[in-house]
Amino acid sequence: MEFLNPGSVAEALALKAATPAAVPIAGGTDVMVELNFDHRRPPALLNLNRIGELHTHSTVDGRVRIGACVPYSRIITELGSVLPGLAIASRTVGSPQIRNRGSVGGNLGAASPAGDSHPALLATDAVVEIASTRGVRMVPANDFYVGVKRNVLEPDELITAVHVPPATGPQQFSKVGTRNAMVIAVCAFAIALHPEQKRVGTGIGSAAPTPLRACEAEEFLNAELPWGSPDGLPDSLNRRFGELVAQAASPIDDVRGTASYRRHALAVMARRTLSWAWSEYRRSAQCA
Ligand SMILES: Cc1cc2nc3c(=O)[nH]c(=O)nc-3n(C[C@H](O)[C@H](O)[C@H](O)COP(=O)(O)OP(=O)(O)OC[C@H]3O[C@@H](n4cnc5c(N)ncnc54)[C@H](O)[C@@H]3O)c2cc1C
Repeated sequence: MEFLNPGSVAEALALKAATPAAVPIAGGTDVMVELNFDHRRPPALLNLNRIGELHTHSTVDGRVRIGACVPYSRIITELGSVLPGLAIASRTVGSPQIRNRGSVGGNLGAASPAGDSHPALLATDAVVEIASTRGVRMVPANDFYVGVKRNVLEPDELITAVHVPPATGPQQFSKVGTRNAMVIAVCAFAIALHPEQKRVGTGIGSAAPTPLRACEAEEFLNAELPWGSPDGLPDSLNRRFGELVAQAASPIDDVRGTASYRRHALAVMARRTLSWAWSEYRRSAQCA
């Protein structure tokens, strides 16, 4: 197996164009498992670890641009205050070792419906930066996932970054698994309140062929949340939100859980994350 070792994005894109079957390797926490179990035997690996630009984050046009290889541990420590939803999701990934190596770029590359960054990226209107020798295109997270473990990347393309708007309100993420750490999500849910726009974003994980938003549930909250006089939320509103989130999913029965358990758990997580986020919003509104 050839090992391609570019030192810049331009070099990496030229190598990917010349060898489209080369498999990019960032943290390797998915790729190495596949190689070790012989699930994949690519002709070449394209190592992204020597490319400094992919390991940095910055602010571009008011959004946080996270290089594709920035590991979860740095998202937690360096971006936790600006991107709280993504940081909470990052804290639930694997173990310290996996969080030190694994990246959001790799999560997007793998495009597993159970990937933990996806619900948070969907809820916050993140945009994926994709590059090739043909140019750069920006794809909203909502359009990025196209099937089970499939995304919109063409064979000559690489993910170079993900752009996430800084939080303007409370954000939450919740994940159900058989234990608290080192676990693939049975299902997961993220919510982001955007008080300035009187709008809510959501993301569902591990309960459909792709990560997805609960659009009807979002519209319901956009119409019903009392942004101007933030009282506690009526139980009926919480309950309806949970029902609409559960309805948005199309889960299957598998070794990790049944479809009906997943729908139930999603409704519970939706109610809980909304009440946590709304309590935080009320506290901040009362302080203002
Ligand atoms: C023990 C263990 C526990 C885990 N726990 C979790 C968990 O709790 N939650 C979770 O979501 N995941 C978990 N994972 C999976 C994995 O850690 C994540 O998916 C991680 O985000 C992958 O990032 P990486 O940088 O290691 O990607 P890699 O393994 O390097 O790559 C993953 C895929 O993305 C492609 N890729 C990588 N970078 C790019 C790029 N820039 N452009 C295009 N394609 C690219 C690769 O070719 C590959 O197909 C776990 C894995 C292990 C081994």
